[in-house]
Amino acid sequence: MDQIQIGKFIASERKAHSLTQQQLADMLNISNKTVSKWECGKGLPDVSMLRPLCQALELDLNELLAGEHLDASVRQKQAEENVLRLLAEQKAQKHSKMRLLYGAVVMSALSMVIVIVLIGVYTEIIPVPVKVFLAAFFGGTMGLTIFLMLYQEHALLHYRCTKCDTVFAPRLLPLMLAPRRVRSRWLKCPHCGKIVRCEPEYGESSQNSVSCS
Ligand SMILES: [Zn+2]
Repeated sequence: MDQIQIGKFIASERKAHSLTQQQLADMLNISNKTVSKWECGKGLPDVSMLRPLCQALELDLNELLAGEHLDASVRQKQAEENVLRLLAEQKAQKHSKMRLLYGAVVMSALSMVIVIVLIGVYTEIIPVPVKVFLAAFFGGTMGLTIFLMLYQEHALLHYRCTKCDTVFAPRLLPLMLAPRRVRSRWLKCPHCGKIVRCEPEYGESSQNSVSCS
């Protein structure tokens, strides 16, 4: 799926309808930054945005996803393929977001450990209360980082029970307390009713959906 071509197509169709980015954004109840992001090819419209966007620009969904006007015969053929590709793409985007988050946490944890070790071992001039304060400060920052990461994980991911294949969105607190091994979490499956090993699903999270008021 060619984000850049889709972006250019959205821009040209918007101009063909004599709309500014702001006007299109208002029609879709989103920010003009989002429209600009699509048009620059820096992101694809969320699945929930596709229908309203097509309506606003009077396009066929397949045309939008192909990034060009299509003949009637080609449209049908491309239909399924486009939807499947879009879903795969959004899955991959969520996956890379999670990777970034994990990377950030590992980096910050490492740098804090290094700072704490340096303070503790090499500096005898610093009085103990200051050391304790610094350790508490860095510990707190690290705790906050981990909390934010878990919060994101909660917003982005669903989990799939390895026993019954039920996909569910755990609540924040159980997710935070869940024992983990690399990517799996031990969570209470709503279907089995037991604590089982669950694997992350980069599936249909409602995180990016825009509510219609
Ligand atoms: Zn289950």
